[in-house]
Amino acid sequence: MDIFLLSLILLEKKKNYAILLVNNEVINMKNSYCLKVYEEVVKRNSGEKEFLQAVYEVLESLECYIEEHPELEKHGVLERFVEPERLITFRVPWVDDEGNVRVNRGYRVQFSSSIGPYKGGLRFHLSVNSSIIKFLGFEQTLKNALTGLPMGGGKGGSDFDPKGKSDNEIMRFCQSYMNELYRYIGENTDVPAGDIGVGKKEIGYLFGQYKKITNKFVGVLTGKDLSFGGIIGRTEATGNGLCYFVNKMLKEMANTSFLGKRVIISGSGNVALYTLKKVTELGGVVIAMSDSNGYIVDEKGIDFETLKELKEVRKERISKYTEIIPTSKYFDTSSKMWTIPCDIALACATQNEIDLESAKVLVKNGVKAIGEGANMPCTMDATNYFIENKILYAPAKAANAGGVMVSGFEMSQNSMRISWTIDEVDSKLKQQMETIFESVYECAKKYGNEYNLLLGANITGFEKVSKAMIFQGVC
Ligand code: NDP
Repeated sequence: MDIFLLSLILLEKKKNYAILLVNNEVINMKNSYCLKVYEEVVKRNSGEKEFLQAVYEVLESLECYIEEHPELEKHGVLERFVEPERLITFRVPWVDDEGNVRVNRGYRVQFSSSIGPYKGGLRFHLSVNSSIIKFLGFEQTLKNALTGLPMGGGKGGSDFDPKGKSDNEIMRFCQSYMNELYRYIGENTDVPAGDIGVGKKEIGYLFGQYKKITNKFVGVLTGKDLSFGGIIGRTEATGNGLCYFVNKMLKEMANTSFLGKRVIISGSGNVALYTLKKVTELGGVVIAMSDSNGYIVDEKGIDFETLKELKEVRKERISKYTEIIPTSKYFDTSSKMWTIPCDIALACATQNEIDLESAKVLVKNGVKAIGEGANMPCTMDATNYFIENKILYAPAKAANAGGVMVSGFEMSQNSMRISWTIDEVDSKLKQQMETIFESVYECAKKYGNEYNLLLGANITGFEKVSKAMIFQGVC
């Protein structure tokens, strides 16, 4: 099929998806099966730009594998792989502290149960919509496959904004959210966890309400407090896992490590904070971090305990850090943080936070490695720019898999009624993150570009999911 013609036809039909179809990336997709499936996805999900971006990125990198496996088309694997098994949306009514009735929209996407029960976090953030939930659920399917644990892909959340809400308001919202969600989840069906805006506190309220409605004390959620079935080390797991993956990548691909490196980290939430802690332990110096308003810089290194107290206990903006640590400076545009010269940049805030322009500045300033702690933090053209310029690039679905991996350990712990020590959890996490690196790196080399770990991650995850789909028949 002539892709230029296809682009023009689709451009005529719908302006929303023309954005994706007229850039160079789309013109690069050559495999007719991938193209056919992508065209359907565009038609069926028009305007859902994050979801289209995620599907495009995966299909493009699967092309060489699809060429080698014609049986996939016969079994309609790709058509099924890109369509969620179920997308649930629901009303979440709650009453604020002034007695006003408020209504938010709740979501849960149960994307794939091919290799295990649906598993993936809940995001409470103003920006949440079906496109974001579907992109996250789709990515989660491949990520979970990479962990080596039997977990399918899911994701959920709401456009509820927890910022500025009292504890009672958050509790009432979580209870109302669970009043509907409980119908669709279960310890062997779908096991949600936290994500942006959902931490231990929210998981506690959600768990309490599930238990009240169902009269069951089961491992239906992960990220719980240790006092009722949580696992030690979950809070730190995504940040630690990211650092284990990146450190292994530095060692295997460049014979170096974090030691003495200048590192910048976006965000100052769960993932970013524990990435800061682990990078510092591994000998790196974190010179800049951000929140959605701005960023701080301190050439002497940002202090974990100070920032943790500020963000987790006092719930302050990152700008307040400069009042405690006088050597630091605050700048008020978070995206400008990428202009700081550094050796390693770790994107741990949100999707599409590094665009092509930021990528070019990072490379010009000598960055050697990029690690994705957040989900899809680099735009497609930024990712391609890093790979083309042979920058070591750790893709999210491999590099941030540590969180869901330890959630998987929590599920095992809950069903076995046991608990592991921090050393057991951390050594399993480290070992498994290094194994993920090895398999993804091997796959990237096999398909001709050792720097393309994104392709390695997509193919490795997809291989497992697609085999299971074929074995289970058309369902
Ligand atoms: P949190 O809500 O704890 O923190 C998010 C942080 O990012 C906040 O500091 C927020 O600042 C900041 N932020 C948001 N938008 C921007 C922006 N445009 N520029 C700079 N900073 C910004 O979320 P998590 O740390 O849990 O999650 C972060 C990312 O990691 C998400 O993409 C999530 O999906 C992913 N992830 C999380 C896992 C986990 O275990 N928590 C597991 C795997 C992936 P502000 O306070 O101003 O909003």
